[in-house]
Amino acid sequence: MPLTIHLTQLDDGPHHLQGKLSPQELELDTQDELIRPDSDLDYSLSVERQENHLLCRGELQMTFEFECARCLEAFKKKTELRHWSQLIPLQGEDALPVNNDSLNLTPILREDMLLSLPQHPLCAEGCDGINRSPRKAAGPPDVLSGPDEPSSAWTALDQLRLE
Ligand SMILES: [Zn+2]
Repeated sequence: MPLTIHLTQLDDGPHHLQGKLSPQELELDTQDELIRPDSDLDYSLSVERQENHLLCRGELQMTFEFECARCLEAFKKKTELRHWSQLIPLQGEDALPVNNDSLNLTPILREDMLLSLPQHPLCAEGCDGINRSPRKAAGPPDVLSGPDEPSSAWTALDQLRLE
């Protein structure tokens, strides 16, 4: 279910909305394979009608899994918009469509969430990814001295003693 509000709910003053939207409900497409949603979007908002627009404000939270743009390590991070606010016009060119007195707030939340995401996610500030070769990490493990080696050395020694 998308997050909608009925304008009549705002007749008596600000209305509080609290809940979750799944990435599917949010129709979130980060268009970036380095960024994947890892939780629902938590919202806690107050919506207020002010003449020809709605004032929405509150808190948005969502966790994403990122791949570090430098070292390619996966990491999770919560994106928090603590003092989020948005003025939604009800009239004019930028107005959102109102159907049967109800307005879908989902696209607004989706857009602002996407705008808050980093363009080049880093696992840590100053990540030293350059020194770590991603190709090496993804390839076959380095050939280390096998466990057989010492025993075969002893075997060789034993054989010498036997001779
Ligand atoms: Zn990194």
